[in-house]
Amino acid sequence: MMGAVSLIGGGPGPADLLTVRAARRLAQADVVCFDRLGPTEELRELSPHAELIDVGKLPGYHRVPQEAINALLIDHARAGRQVARLKGGDPFVFGRGGEEVNALTAAGISVEIIPGISSAISVPQSVGIPVTHRGISHTFTVMSGHVPASEDQLRHLAGLDTTLVVLMGMGTLGHTIAGLLRHGLSPDTPAAIIERGFRASQRTTRAPLRDLVLEAHRRGCASPAVIVVGEVVHAMPQWVAAMDPQLPVPEPDLDCQMTQHATHASARGIV
Ligand code: SAH
Repeated sequence: MMGAVSLIGGGPGPADLLTVRAARRLAQADVVCFDRLGPTEELRELSPHAELIDVGKLPGYHRVPQEAINALLIDHARAGRQVARLKGGDPFVFGRGGEEVNALTAAGISVEIIPGISSAISVPQSVGIPVTHRGISHTFTVMSGHVPASEDQLRHLAGLDTTLVVLMGMGTLGHTIAGLLRHGLSPDTPAAIIERGFRASQRTTRAPLRDLVLEAHRRGCASPAVIVVGEVVHAMPQWVAAMDPQLPVPEPDLDCQMTQHATHASARGIV
């Protein structure tokens, strides 16, 4: 009998941020093909009977081509197995999920798609940054920084008055921020970089846009990280002060920034 594939969004890391449906499919799976992000640490408990395959490390490949992953999924499904294809976040947010669905359906294999909590929303949220906030921002734009944005895109983004969320953006951070500034986004625009969201080593760097690249460099910010640009970074100053264990209280510049944020927010009638 033919097996089937569940394309599963694994959320931003912790197993208890999986959907109930995702956890159920993982528990039923014969094979789990996973990569780096998502709930990889708890996988053995989530899928006690399954063969676990890290497709980030298929033997013989340095960086696994998408075709090799597609072929692996197809082979296991044809062998009659229930295959869980586990991805970080949501499978359709820069996850190449659509490509896998197309390859599988072309091979006559049935595919179920299970959404996941995307890092684009949940990682900023975890440090008190709502991607939208009444009176501050009513749109948000999620972009990939994997490839440098074109001049047209940067001009467009700078004029959108949106919350900008950049995934895979550390390699192109300088290019993106310089472009936004060049096209008129205010250098005072608040911004944040959240590295390793939901991990014990999670770290947040907040700075106005003009200082973000320097600050990221100074602190050695690295992937995986979510970059947020927009006034929403300051939408919940009290919560951030109370909850964000990353905020070192004694640092005078940060102290002064927090006061400014609070004033800024109350001036807008938010707090
Ligand atoms: N499908 C995923 C995104 C895949 S692209 C989703 O919906 O979340 C991979 C990028 O996502 C990383 O480079 C990083 O920018 C971001 N990312 C995913 N998980 C993250 C986490 N726990 N902390 C910080 N960034 C994360």
